[in-house]
Order: sequence, then structure tokens, then C-alpha cells
Amino acid sequence: MDDLLERVRALPCGRRLLEAAAAAGGIHLTGGGVRDLLLGREPRELDVVVEGDVTGLATRLGDVDAVHERFGTATVRAGDCRWDLAAARSETYARAGALPDVRATGIEEDLLRRDVTVNAFALDLRTGALRAVEHAREDLEAGRLRVLHDASFVDDPTRLWRIARYAARLGFELEPRTARLVAHAVAAGALETVSRARIGNELRLALREPDPPAALEVAVALGLAPWLAPDRRRTAVALDLLPPGEGRADLVVLAASLDGGAGDTDRVLAELEFTAAERELLHACLQADALAEAAAMASRASELARLLRGVPVEALAIAGAAGAAATVSRWLHEVRSVRLAITGDDLIAAGVPEGPEIGRRLETTLDRRLDGELEAGRDAELSAALEVMLPGS
Ligand code: ATP
Repeated sequence: MDDLLERVRALPCGRRLLEAAAAAGGIHLTGGGVRDLLLGREPRELDVVVEGDVTGLATRLGDVDAVHERFGTATVRAGDCRWDLAAARSETYARAGALPDVRATGIEEDLLRRDVTVNAFALDLRTGALRAVEHAREDLEAGRLRVLHDASFVDDPTRLWRIARYAARLGFELEPRTARLVAHAVAAGALETVSRARIGNELRLALREPDPPAALEVAVALGLAPWLAPDRRRTAVALDLLPPGEGRADLVVLAASLDGGAGDTDRVLAELEFTAAERELLHACLQADALAEAAAMASRASELARLLRGVPVEALAIAGAAGAAATVSRWLHEVRSVRLAITGDDLIAAGVPEGPEIGRRLETTLDRRLDGELEAGRDAELSAALEVMLPGS
């Protein structure tokens, strides 16, 4: 037990939490943080449950970012650290899929509102005592996901998506009864009882997993998203083509899993509250097969530039995965950054009249540079640009 507190202390934001928690009793680390510590993994976040009011701990910890009175929760930050605080609570569901009604309780009862046993641990940050629901320890050891009660998915169908993410991330199996409850809930249409926006949120979380295609694969295998067709190879090739620091990796993963049938896909994405800009990007990705075919025909760099300039990197990555990897890579790493040393001002200074002719001369000169017909440098470019024979000239 001491060992667990020591592991908390060793975390980047652990020492400060322990110090702030020492001043009062009834403060626990809960949820995935404890699960991950017990698995010897680095917790992704620190969720803290307080028996009583969260404000004392919140002000001792740092700057209170957001307080939600209704749920008795607060988010606190200090430097790079962030902690999610919540008052111990029990939850009841007025109807299937509704948001819960909450009531303050002790930590034991708080653990009972949770999704799966391996998330229902609480580590007392003052005494080091570790509490858990029934089966939690054995399930953690066996790598098993088990819901705490039979109505779990009916109460909150977003737990179906949570289970898919945990199964993929932790490599855990569904305990047989839980697997039957999943199948039953899906067949009974449990997912239709929650808003599309909440499901969209779950999908977005899946896309941010360490191995998103694995999470999507489990989701599809469980029947949560029949409109997705995850493809590991396609996703890996596309992600590999995405230039570092550019583009939305999450949308590339999603696009690689979308199954072309465009019209319907767009409607589904809109319902899941992907923004118009995101859907436009995904739509561009869905045109990638045609783009890949056209790119395969473009042998000259200037043709490639005409075809690919302005295409979002996400769509380029998907086109690469659709068979044009070498061409897309050539465009991204060699061709797209080639620029002329001269500008329109140089041509005006050399006597070319202002107007569309300037653009046409620059374009033709850039084409020649791209196709290796012109050496780099202002002088060669300027004389080439002045020599350009324009139609009608
Ligand atoms: P992650 O590692 O993905 O951050 P986590 O387990 O910390 O996983 P959170 O979504 O941060 O997940 O939730 C914290 C804890 O709150 C969970 O471990 C779980 O005990 C509980 N929890 C969160 N959402 C639900 C839910 N929909 N139903 C039941 N319990 C939930």
C-alpha cells in the first residue's frame, strides 16, 4: 500500500496532490489512475474523489478552472498539472440513457456507480488504504472487463464505447456475462437512447487512443459502429505519410475507416456533431481513390503540383494509402516546397505590364523549375520568365 502512495509521489503531479490531500481525510485517487498504477503503467490523468466538499482540496491544490455545482466536480490546474476532483456520489438513472441524478455519499458507494470493476478502485491518499469493488483485483490480474451490474449499459450506453476503448488499450477481454450484456444492449437499441452528440464524443475519444484503429475494430466487433470499416494497413500507411506537426491524425484515422458510401456517411458525421470544416476534410479524404489514380498518371512534377497543390494533407495521406504512397511522398517531401526566387515585382521592374500575364509567366517558370528544365536562382528564373511565349503574344 505504501508502495502505491510512493508511486503516486513519483508521478509528475503526484507529490503536490499528496501534500494537498494530507491536510484532510477522505481524499482518494480513483478510476483509471489507480488501475494504471496497479498495472505498472503511467496514469493518463489523476481523478480524485473527496468525501464531502471538493473546494477545500481544490484551493489547496492550485487554480480552480471549472466547477460544476450539479455534479460537485472541479478541475484544478497548477503549472502543467491538472486534477479532476469530484465529491463522492451515487448515481441513479431516471430513464435509460438519461444523464444521472446524483447524491452525495461515501467512497464505497461511489465505487459502485462505476463502469467496470478495474476502474472501481480507490486509494486513500492519506492512509494508503486501497478499496475496490468485488472482483476488481482478480479482473485486473486476469485482464478482464466486467460491468458492475446487469443494467449498466441500459443506464448509460456510452459505457459500450468505453469498454471498446479499454479492451483495445489494455488488451483486456470481456468477461462472458459482460459480453452477453453488450450484445443484448446493442441488439435492444441501447445506443439509440443517447444523443448522437454523446456518441460522437465517445468516437472522438476512440480516435485519440494510443492505437485508434484497434479501438475502432473493437467498436465494430461489438456492433457499435456498423458504418465503420477499420483497416490497420491503410491507417498505418496514411499516418506515416502525414508530415510531422501537420494535419489532423484523428481525422486521418477516421477517414481510413470510412467506407466510401459518401452521402450516408456525411449525414452520420453531421449527427455525431463533427463540424462542417471537419466533414469537408473527411469528404476530401473520401475522394482519395480518384486522386490516387490521377496522381499515378502524373509523371512530371509540374503535373503533380497542378493536381495536388491545395489538397489537404489528410486527403493526400489517404490517397497515399490508396496506392499512391510514393507519389504523395514525392510531392510532400520534394516538390511542394519548391518556390521561385523571383516575384511579380521583379517582372514589373523588368517592364512586364501589371495584370494576369504576370501570374502566367510565373506559373510557367515554376513548372519549368519543377520539371528540372531550369537551374535555380534569380537570373535564370528572370530570363526564363521574360522569355515565356504567351498565347497571342
Ligand atoms: P482513461 O484512462 O481513459 O482516462 P479513466 O478510467 O480515467 O480512463 P475517465 O473517463 O477519466 O476514465 O473516468 C474516470 C473514472 O470515472 C473511470 O475510471 C470510471 O471509474 C468512472 N467513469 C467515467 N465515466 C463513467 C461512466 N460513463 N459510467 C461509469 N463510470 C464512469
